[in-house]
Amino acid sequence: MTASLYRLVYYSRNHVSGDAAEFATHVDDILAKSRQNNRRDEITGALLFNAGCFAQVLEGPLEKIEATFERIQQDDRHGDVSLLALNSIAARSFPNWAMGFVGTSNGDAERFAGISASSGFDISRLSGDQIHTLLRDLTIEEEAVA
Ligand code: FAD
Repeated sequence: MTASLYRLVYYSRNHVSGDAAEFATHVDDILAKSRQNNRRDEITGALLFNAGCFAQVLEGPLEKIEATFERIQQDDRHGDVSLLALNSIAARSFPNWAMGFVGTSNGDAERFAGISASSGFDISRLSGDQIHTLLRDLTIEEEAVA
């Protein structure tokens, strides 16, 4: 029997310092480890970085999501980790993404500029639902242009 699916949404504040190239290397490390672990754990989702904050959606079996979130909370590459939502879901929003990422490319920056201009975009002011919708829309755009 397939385990019930859950979705967890949180945001956090970046603790990684350095220039853009160093930050990109840290993000690459985080994504490589995340994708490796998440494939193993049947977790899908997406990670967003903007204006010093991360926001992430994790979808999958509850016990796997909880174990992953425990590790994430203990990671000193970020802090002030704030859980925004943990709900059971009928279907995944990111079925093809062991961990999508939106944040540092020129195309992402342009899309964020549009969002910022229209909504005063600030991750820490968004609800779990808003972050989920934003990431789903941005990731779907990313899939469409890939
Ligand atoms: P290990 O196999 O021991 O691997 C840990 C490796 O990660 C280390 O070798 C090191 O290279 C690196 N690492 C771990 N902690 C640090 C640190 N504090 N500083 C520098 N390097 C470090 N993990 C997931 O499994 N799934 C996710 O979706 C996920 N999302 C993340 C999102 C963010 C914003 C951050 C900051 C981290 C995320 N992580 C995620 C990583 C998570 O916090 C753990 O580092 C990871 O899950 C540990 O994996 P492991 O138990 O296999 O450890």
